[in-house]
Amino acid sequence: MAIETRNPATGELIKTFTAHTSGEVTEKIEQAHQAFLSWRKVPFEERAKHMQKQADILEKEAEKYGRIISLEMGKPLKSAMAEVKKCATVCRYYAENAAEFMADEEIASGASRSFISYEPLGVVLAIMPWNFPFWQVYRFLAPALMAGNVGLLKHASNVPQCAQAIEEIVRTAGFPDNVFQSLLIGSGAVDAVIEHPHVKAVTLTGSELAGSKVAEKAGREIKKTVLELGGSDAFIVLDDADLEQAAEVAVKSRMVNTGQSCIAAKRFIVVESIAEAFLQKFSQKMQAFKTGDPLKEDVDFGPMARKDLAEELEQQVNDSVAKGAEVVLDGGRQGNDNAYFKPMILKNVKPGMPAYEEEMFGPVAAVMVVKDEDEAIAVANDSRFGLGGAVWTQDRERGLRVAKQVETGAMFVNALVASSPEMPFGGIKKSGYGRELSYLGIREFVNQKSIWID
Ligand code: NAP
Repeated sequence: MAIETRNPATGELIKTFTAHTSGEVTEKIEQAHQAFLSWRKVPFEERAKHMQKQADILEKEAEKYGRIISLEMGKPLKSAMAEVKKCATVCRYYAENAAEFMADEEIASGASRSFISYEPLGVVLAIMPWNFPFWQVYRFLAPALMAGNVGLLKHASNVPQCAQAIEEIVRTAGFPDNVFQSLLIGSGAVDAVIEHPHVKAVTLTGSELAGSKVAEKAGREIKKTVLELGGSDAFIVLDDADLEQAAEVAVKSRMVNTGQSCIAAKRFIVVESIAEAFLQKFSQKMQAFKTGDPLKEDVDFGPMARKDLAEELEQQVNDSVAKGAEVVLDGGRQGNDNAYFKPMILKNVKPGMPAYEEEMFGPVAAVMVVKDEDEAIAVANDSRFGLGGAVWTQDRERGLRVAKQVETGAMFVNALVASSPEMPFGGIKKSGYGRELSYLGIREFVNQKSIWID
């Protein structure tokens, strides 16, 4: 893919970028390694000072950076600004807690003293997607830098200005040179970076295919990976759910980021006794959302991020309908030159249809009606993905019982699935492995060293 900024609302090419040469990439890796040798010795308080300054910048300049996000990937400005501000929260979280998360951990044994020492690994490569082009990067950047690692970012090819903006913020916050650098490279140039002996580990947020390719290469090099991949989250509505509230959150959860979120609700698994009532509310609320130019104030959602992604989603819908899915709410693409896609709801979604088997990365809801709680759990688990999920019931004990049986990295009872700095985030099955955020996230890219003193 060309490295370029293209406005998804109009299809207009705004700016093209020249990829770094392999020589430039090697130089940046070496510089990163040199930066690590001193950064690892910098005390936590000093690292935290820069991290807090970074949070200040993100908060103060949310509109400036939000505009870059909206321009490059089409989310409404108010959502883009909220994303930038959320990045400040993860910076502050690790600024305040990293020293404790990385402190020596005493272990009872036969030694006079034995403990786990958490030590940084060095240069970590982060391969990131365009859907939350700031938040995904900061989930990596904040814990990595606070742990004493240094970062190299290979951002998605359609958000190069976001990558440059983040580099600028890190610099302005006063971090030493080269502790965080962006590599302007296509995916074809990633293998060489993974091979470099100074690159110690890789984290990737993106599709299943990209994850398996990167993990395969890193595996051959014996380098640790964390993979945050796709999801097809179940949104289970039981017979005793508050339908008004469930429908309200169902729409938000499906439509967040124009449907382009890994933890968006994608499969709506609804018990038959309340299915019609739920669908009616769901459909009504979905239609109330306003699509339009992401830079306008009153818009709820903008276009999808790229025209090819809208085309791909249209194909998944057409194939599902050809196999018997029923269109309850009609929408879809709005012209051939842009990436707009109006929300759709499909009913009677069955095994064998793309809407059942695959991730639908856009504003299309797949509804499956089941007879009871047990069937709801079985259908929720009949997916190769295992990222997040939600269950709706007015009985919390019942909600917890269902949550425990669904095979995912996270379950929410009567709430919108969302990430927050203090809770671990990650998947199982084809949604990946490893965790970001919380104390678990900062310990992914550290040497968990056992020290025994006789
Ligand atoms: P993608 O095509 O996999 O791209 C993600 C990143 O991987 C981009 O930087 C891309 O670079 C790079 N990449 C692609 N193929 C590669 C390869 N063979 N080797 C090395 N790098 C490669 O995914 P996307 O379309 O941008 O993002 C959507 C996907 O991300 C969805 O499946 C979504 O669910 C998932 N996601 C997961 C999470 C999570 O936390 N679990 C969060 C957000 C998104 P180029 O742009 O240059 O191709």
